[in-house]
Amino acid sequence: MTYVPVIGLEVHLQLATRSKIFCGCATTFGAAANSQVCPVCLGFPGVLPVLNRKVLALGIRTALALGCRIEPTIVFHRKNYFYPDLPKDFQISQYDLPLGRSGSVEVGERRIRVHRVHLEEDAGKLIHKEGEDASLVDFNRSGMPLLEIVSEPDLASPEEAQAYLKTLKAILQYLEVSDCDMEKGSLRCDTNVSLRRPSEELGTKVEVKNLNSFKSVGRALTHEIERQGKLLEAGEKVAQETRLFDDARGITLGMRSKEYAHDYRYFPEPDLVPFSLTEKEIEVIREELPELPAAKAKRFAASFGLTPADARGVTASRAAADYFEACVKAVAGAGLRPEPGTFKAIANWILGEIARVMNERNLEEITALQFSPGHLLELVQLVDSGKISHKMAKEVFAEVVKSGESPARHVQARNLAQVTDAGRIRESAQAVIQENPGAVEDFKKGKPRALMFLVGQLMRRTQGSASPALAQETLRELLKENKR
Ligand code: ADP
Ligand code: MG
Ligand code: ZN
Repeated sequence: MTYVPVIGLEVHLQLATRSKIFCGCATTFGAAANSQVCPVCLGFPGVLPVLNRKVLALGIRTALALGCRIEPTIVFHRKNYFYPDLPKDFQISQYDLPLGRSGSVEVGERRIRVHRVHLEEDAGKLIHKEGEDASLVDFNRSGMPLLEIVSEPDLASPEEAQAYLKTLKAILQYLEVSDCDMEKGSLRCDTNVSLRRPSEELGTKVEVKNLNSFKSVGRALTHEIERQGKLLEAGEKVAQETRLFDDARGITLGMRSKEYAHDYRYFPEPDLVPFSLTEKEIEVIREELPELPAAKAKRFAASFGLTPADARGVTASRAAADYFEACVKAVAGAGLRPEPGTFKAIANWILGEIARVMNERNLEEITALQFSPGHLLELVQLVDSGKISHKMAKEVFAEVVKSGESPARHVQARNLAQVTDAGRIRESAQAVIQENPGAVEDFKKGKPRALMFLVGQLMRRTQGSASPALAQETLRELLKENKR
């Protein structure tokens, strides 16, 4: 392909506060339509907005975590447009003086720049009922606090855009500034994409609005890149516009031609005076920042000998990172030596079997699983000590993750521990050799599969409890003696 994509994302985040951004109305999700409204968020004439202190604190917390510079003076602007879900006919937002600027997000090995972060209020929600010739409007969402996070056009593929969004979501979850629930619309995303020939200037961008899953971000971008590619290959121009993604058909559709800042007649919100935060106030918020995923991944790699990829995987969600650290504590608590092999095994379980079951059951967080860090450590130790094979451990996991039983107890109660007693295995091996002269002949003729057959017989005889490695070793030895 002669063209390469250039992508920038605008992410809208609903901040987790109990009341709205400029009034005292509740923000509870799923309340009866128009039950959480007042004259302020319904845009009655003469009312005055008052900024919610918590909204400001969460906004600054996020801006600082993304490495942004905080604007010395906080100013709100009116963004004027007409739409039935916007009773005031303007949205209170920020314009040329956003809350924060010039941050970045580390995505794998790359640093994606954050252009700006600003506060604004959400609009109401239109409800179009099938078969009815009228639309309804629910103003509960009107005045919900939003933080918009705008990236630079630094993303180079749909996959990278998804990875950026995932990393951003993880950071926001670590910060506890939002529930980040994409299905509820707490985290949604507009994507901007253009094509250009390498080293040429940026091409004309198209904005695809309101995507609310990682999957639809990927699909919308992939489709849009293909659509623009075809236009350019045919010598046509890409129109600068705003498009919508039709999830069912997997295509983007023209919605409106692009609007420019001057279309909105921005002017400073006269009812909210500009104000400043002191350096000290900002520092207090900075000091409260938690350790973020990138820093945690580096620490996990350095302290526990995880590979960078495993460390990133384990820290991708705060719940998983906390789980891993609880396992580390359990290692110390059990008086075990902190071996890198043990930590690696723990990470492998979290990123392997545990992730698989979570995926299967559609669970967001590891904490939703009935499988404690102590249980995981038991499982790792059962394998480590040779009591059960890795294969058996997976089966045990599949059982106890359903029942919540302790893996050690499960193995003991069902007599699953493999027989590592050399004497008993030798006895069984001798019996198997006597009972299977054909296979022994085959082995002598140099057929390696015969040995596997005999191992199988031994496992059957011991009802699968023998250590397979020891079984094979013992049989091989006996057969060699037999040969001579
Ligand atoms: P607008 O004035 O249309 O809102 P902005 O400059 O604010 O445009 O950018 C909005 C988003 O579009 C940002 O995330 C930015 O990174 C992205 N963007 C800007 N120019 C391009 C481009 N040529 N191709 C792809 N994305 C772009
Ligand atoms: Mg913009
Ligand atoms: Zn209100």
